[in-house]
Amino acid sequence: MTEFADLLVLGAGPAGAEAALAADHAGLRVVLLDEAPAAGGQVWRAPRTHAARTRSDADQTRGRDLRGRLDASGVQVRTGTQVWDAVPGFCLSCVSERGATRFQAPRLVLATGATERVRPFAGWTTPGVFGLAAATAMMKAEGRLAGRNIIVAGQGPLLIAVAAKACAMGVPPRAIVDLNGRGDWLSAVSGFAAAPGLLLTGLKWMARIVAARVPILHGADIVRALGDDTLDAVIVRDRASGQETRLAADTLYVGNGLTPADEIHRLLGAAQVADALRGGYRTLCDADRRSSVPGLYVAGDGAGVHGAFPSAAQGRIAGLAAAHDHGALSAADFARASRHARGQLKRLMRFADASCRLMQFPEDSLQDIRGDTVICRCEDVTVDQIRAASGDGACDLNQLKHFTRLGMGPCQGRMCALNAAGVLRRLAVDAGRDLRLTPRAPVRPVEMAQLIGTFAYSDIPVPKPAPL
Ligand SMILES: Cc1cc2nc3c(=O)[nH]c(=O)nc-3n(C[C@H](O)[C@H](O)[C@H](O)COP(=O)(O)OP(=O)(O)OC[C@H]3O[C@@H](n4cnc5c(N)ncnc54)[C@H](O)[C@@H]3O)c2cc1C
Repeated sequence: MTEFADLLVLGAGPAGAEAALAADHAGLRVVLLDEAPAAGGQVWRAPRTHAARTRSDADQTRGRDLRGRLDASGVQVRTGTQVWDAVPGFCLSCVSERGATRFQAPRLVLATGATERVRPFAGWTTPGVFGLAAATAMMKAEGRLAGRNIIVAGQGPLLIAVAAKACAMGVPPRAIVDLNGRGDWLSAVSGFAAAPGLLLTGLKWMARIVAARVPILHGADIVRALGDDTLDAVIVRDRASGQETRLAADTLYVGNGLTPADEIHRLLGAAQVADALRGGYRTLCDADRRSSVPGLYVAGDGAGVHGAFPSAAQGRIAGLAAAHDHGALSAADFARASRHARGQLKRLMRFADASCRLMQFPEDSLQDIRGDTVICRCEDVTVDQIRAASGDGACDLNQLKHFTRLGMGPCQGRMCALNAAGVLRRLAVDAGRDLRLTPRAPVRPVEMAQLIGTFAYSDIPVPKPAPL
């Protein structure tokens, strides 16, 4: 079954939802697709439980407003719909509870958001170790946080957000282990001041953490998680002195920033450039968010990490650009309608840069990971195995995949590829080369039964036997 539209938008977070609304307002037939049960994306995620609904905060209000505006619009919202393949033209192959479906349109906005990065350490696959961004998803959707004796570790504004929200939920962290030093935060303040409202929110989070007397260990990271079936403790290392401390914990939330979820951008051949500040690779686009592929627009963290508000502004510009290119908006109307979003984007760039700098993945620290540390969790591939494969001649991730099965599991390299590339790059001579896996469908694990649906064997046409 194929549904047709003027514009497809993949991802119903701030970027995709704003793109869809802007294009709908300009008169395009828009289909907005997302695998989540409701629009809102990661940051404005819809609550799923009563506990989450009763916990009202600014993100929840923004999410409700966004879903309300979508409901009141002409946008065809298809949530619970997972896109697993895309071909130029554009045709998206999906699965949902309705089975296998396809959507086709001459234009596509990709607004697929980000994936969390975690610097691997010994024991990071122990039950009880969660992603830091995953903690926000748990709190927003379920209104709760797993664990009683928790440690929050990693880097960037999410570290402070999660710790403050944990305090508000009555589970103040045992400690915050911050990879950044105090000086890094101080240098970020002038960038944060570009968005005074957001800076104030951050200061309120800090006040809550201070009031709960949560110790903050700056310039430190987690080097080991201890425990077999459950987490017992973590080993924290002071990066300057090398001194290690054992902290008891039943739950660790740890994250080292975000990387663009750009599998479909790459599958469609959009040009990219390495950009560590934006999470690894950024998809190239013009000021109107047109990518190098005709008819393909990119917005939000999926094209380079910027944060929620810049993502929303980029989405609006992308949606209006699609409407303009479709012939639904004159150049003057396009300029007028996009002026506010362009101004917002410009204002928020300093804030985005400051946040991204604090979240920038510590590539150097991949050097001192222990050899028995798992890099690919799906296929259990360790640092030592990567080093051995490199010694045997593997010099990019495609070769590493053949040698070790790295990236062949359900995540298809989403969690491990950049870390494995980092380890390889330390060993490889050709440091500047793009070592990443060639993008391939399916970009999400898909059940065969979902693709083929139900059928009777008697309905299968059997060709006549070939004459002898
Ligand atoms: C787990 C996680 C939690 C985060 N929590 C916060 C937070 O609490 N506060 C904050 O400020 N920032 C948070 N961030 C960062 C935040 O995602 C962004 O800055 C902001 O949401 C970007 O908006 P976006 O529209 O680009 O992407 P998103 O909001 O991530 O939206 C992208 C959407 O695309 C959908 N999608 C992607 N690929 C497919 C596919 N193949 N098929 C179907 N649907 C697809 C996703 O389901 C998602 O809803 C989080 C990031 C992550 C990864």
